Amino acid sequence: MAEHAVVIAGGGPTGLVVAAELALARVDVAIIERRANQDLVGSRAGGLHSRTMEVFDQRGIVDRFLSEGQVAQVAGFAGARLDISDFPTRHPYSLGLWQKHIERIMAGWVGELAVPIYRGREVTGFAQDETGVDVQLSDGQSLRAEYLVGCDGGRSLVRKAAGIEFPGWDPTVSSLIAEVEMAEEPELGIRHDAIGLHGIGKVEYEIRDGEVVYKAGGTVRVMVTEQHVGPTSEPTLRDLSDALILVYGTDYGVHSPTSISRFTDMTRQAATYRDRRVLLAGDAAHVHAPDGGQGLNTGVQDAVNLGWKLAQVVKRTSPESLLDTYHAERHPVAARVLRNTMAAVALRRTDERTKALRDTVAELLTMDEPRKRLAAELTGLGIHYDLGEGHPLLGRRMPDLDVITTNGSLRVFTLLHNARPVLLNFGETGGFDITPWADRVQLIDAKYDGTWELPAIGTVTAPTAVLVRPDGYVVWVGDRTQVGLGDALTTWFGLPVAA
Ligand SMILES: Cc1cc2nc3c(=O)[nH]c(=O)nc-3n(C[C@H](O)[C@H](O)[C@H](O)COP(=O)(O)OP(=O)(O)OC[C@H]3O[C@@H](n4cnc5c(N)ncnc54)[C@H](O)[C@@H]3O)c2cc1C
Repeated sequence: MAEHAVVIAGGGPTGLVVAAELALARVDVAIIERRANQDLVGSRAGGLHSRTMEVFDQRGIVDRFLSEGQVAQVAGFAGARLDISDFPTRHPYSLGLWQKHIERIMAGWVGELAVPIYRGREVTGFAQDETGVDVQLSDGQSLRAEYLVGCDGGRSLVRKAAGIEFPGWDPTVSSLIAEVEMAEEPELGIRHDAIGLHGIGKVEYEIRDGEVVYKAGGTVRVMVTEQHVGPTSEPTLRDLSDALILVYGTDYGVHSPTSISRFTDMTRQAATYRDRRVLLAGDAAHVHAPDGGQGLNTGVQDAVNLGWKLAQVVKRTSPESLLDTYHAERHPVAARVLRNTMAAVALRRTDERTKALRDTVAELLTMDEPRKRLAAELTGLGIHYDLGEGHPLLGRRMPDLDVITTNGSLRVFTLLHNARPVLLNFGETGGFDITPWADRVQLIDAKYDGTWELPAIGTVTAPTAVLVRPDGYVVWVGDRTQVGLGDALTTWFGLPVAA
């Protein structure tokens, strides 16, 4: 039986990033992926939010996405656009890039990290014991792993086989989403009517002066809300034609679909993200309406939270209990995503009272404080892991400052490229000795004279030192003293090694 330290079920965006994070930590990891190749039928997610770009910047690969995508201010809530150009980040925008391109770029990165992907086969079941998991595959083979990570999407077999509950809410609306050819030129743009929200665009587009400009001709991307919640069966061209006629009075001679699928506002979240040696991440752990474009992004954030923790547990640097912080930190974040998508769906309703409420919310969102708070949540920049009372940086993302070190000036994010933790000392040079953790934690003496500013929070007191995890979150803040540093190093990066 082939063995790997970690087996990942599903090589979508979440599984690819978990694999890359483990490979960066030199953990033996393999992906099992149902699809024969990385090609994706249909468009699905339309891009990346700010914090996701920061995460890729932390790994030195953000330019691969930026060079192919379209930068724009498109973060939005229930029709209100939330401009984040004033946010203190190097990426104060969203990136328009279809999921098929995002996955191709991610798969290229995973390929460079030499992660084996067993393609064209499925995980069909597993059995876990004290020391590991036997993972059964559809080709009759089995793999043995210390841990199994279910990144196998909303219908996750891993979640179901683990018996993990998936409580939540049944759908109230459904939409057909398709890529098709049309004999006639359709009405492009968004339409809001008594049935709901609809949109027709082109797969190929550019953003000029903040406006979407579609290429003439070419494949059309349709999103049409159905009058009643559709069945769970796969939709047909006839279903799409009927739905278009109901809304637009014509189906524009729709033909030659390359994809037709149905999505709903079904909203559910796994009761636990871990059952002993089995973990869940991405859509396997949470599903919700696509409003706000948060699904793929939340999965990527799950992946970078889990990756380094699982690596440390597999390498015996940290106890298994470190994995419990994955659920503790990520479950509340996705619960907020579920909440804001349910709110957005409710505000999409077409009756006059809901319209009045939507307009009222939109008005509130023109005010700075509400705009910043909600935009920080939707873009991931406001993520705050509850690590107790203290400096506002505690549990928040480390800003990508330009600092001066003995090796010259550099961006903080470059220190995270290899997914290793870092203690940044802004105080007296040589003021720290972390020799017992030197095999795991980088110590950098740095100078920074600028202001410390956090998205939606504003300016905060300059710390004298910060301990930053591989995922970029601050777990200890120095304030002229080193109180608590040893505990933080042990909690997050394992026991000190005797000299
Ligand atoms: C119509 C639509 C529009 C969307 N729009 C947006 C958007 O605008 N913005 C956004 O952020 N998100 C959007 N999403 C959500 C986004 O596509 C998902 O959140 C994202 O793909 C989740 O990534 P994942 O890797 O967790 O799961 P998936 O992308 O579902 O990947 C799961 C992978 O596991 C494989 N798999 C499944 N079962 C098995 C098995 N048993 N064994 C082996 N492999 C298996 C699948 O082939 C797949 O590759 C949209 C989704 C849909 C359907």
